[in-house]
Amino acid sequence: MTNNPFESAKAQLDAAAQVSGANVNIVDQLKNPDRYIEVSIPVQMDDGTHRIFSGFRSQHNNARGPYKGGIRYHQDVNLDEVRALSFWMTFKNAVVNVPFGGGKGGIIVNPKELSEGELERLSRGYMKQMFRNFGPLVDVPAPDVNTNGQIMAWMRDEFEKQTGTTAPGVITGKAIEDGGSQGRTEATGFGGGYVLREALNAGLVPAERKTIAIQGFGNVATYLAEYVKEHGFKIVALSDSKGGIYNENGIDLAQAEAHKKETRALSGLEGSTEITNEALLELDVDVLVPAALENVLTADNAAKVKAKFILEMANGPTTPEADAIFAQNGVTVVPDILANSGGVCVSYFEWYQNQNNETWTKEDVLKKLDEHMVAAFQAVRAAQEKYNTTMRTAAYIVALERIAEKMI
Ligand code: NAD
Repeated sequence: MTNNPFESAKAQLDAAAQVSGANVNIVDQLKNPDRYIEVSIPVQMDDGTHRIFSGFRSQHNNARGPYKGGIRYHQDVNLDEVRALSFWMTFKNAVVNVPFGGGKGGIIVNPKELSEGELERLSRGYMKQMFRNFGPLVDVPAPDVNTNGQIMAWMRDEFEKQTGTTAPGVITGKAIEDGGSQGRTEATGFGGGYVLREALNAGLVPAERKTIAIQGFGNVATYLAEYVKEHGFKIVALSDSKGGIYNENGIDLAQAEAHKKETRALSGLEGSTEITNEALLELDVDVLVPAALENVLTADNAAKVKAKFILEMANGPTTPEADAIFAQNGVTVVPDILANSGGVCVSYFEWYQNQNNETWTKEDVLKKLDEHMVAAFQAVRAAQEKYNTTMRTAAYIVALERIAEKMI
């Protein structure tokens, strides 16, 4: 049994390789990231003391294009997590069919403990140590957990200072006025919403009650919630790192957002009862959406999950052991590399606009995003039927075929 995300990622690849009879040399190469970089970042704190932070970047594979993937700020960031996340990016970019490889980075830090000035010095420090490994045609980072457009702007500025270039395409997820794309903020959540819509139309989602429980209430969860609410779903549970809230009659999203803004937590929202993050996963709902961190669905709780449809908006929320239990219990799992690929898809649109000096409207972006998500969903469904397998394995097969074609 393993909760090591990199081991999980490799097991998922093995499953796909076995079903599709993929080239073993290609599979072996994909189990090992091309390169892994670790740096120490000295930061002067506001009180005059110095702290050294650890920063990482894993460059997994660039057969289909520059390495591409976010940078995460979290106290639990570690080598295996970053390696797994970079691996998933290679496959995700191939599933959603954008010309990028896979990369991922992170810093071990709880950003909530830092002032804005400290956060800026940390972000610039990371880029000062890493800039040789980045570039619009080399490796293109983006925001992830606890990072945002402001942090990307500091990093881009530092990259341009260090290299003496103007390079908006070195980073995506930038603010609009800084070369960012319309629709990027909504992209991951809405992209997941488009996939859920397609699954509903294909009859894969039990549609009697259309109840949904979402773990997380950050960027991804918020826009997914907005989309599904507009499409007739009743959101009965939401959560953040402090815990969850439940309301069988449906949570008023605007009210939840206002409450979270005011109190910095979801708990205490009028009309809702408090539940733990663990209990949220076991609610009797039609659709369960893990949209926070990895490894939340494991051998310990998978059999207790009552939802028959899981949309993985977080990266790596399900361990292979839990996956096996879901397959046995007839639970459909839409894998992360399909469900949350909308973010990197619009990151590609942003990069494309930067590289070609174009500016697209939000309407254009969301329309193109919708087309990419539908195409990805259909490709995965076709592979699922062809190989008579799970959606996860089918998604890996689609990606593997596209990556292998370039590697060969
Ligand atoms: P975010 O920082 O905006 O939000 C993270 C959410 O998770 C917050 O609501 C936080 O309170 C909650 N959380 C943190 N620790 C938790 C815990 N222990 N238990 C329950 N909840 C907890 O991040 P995000 O951008 O919304 O990303 C969420 C997930 O989606 C991550 O797995 C990320 O890798 C993945 N993802 C994000 C994007 C993107 O475009 N932002 C794209 C693809 C995948």
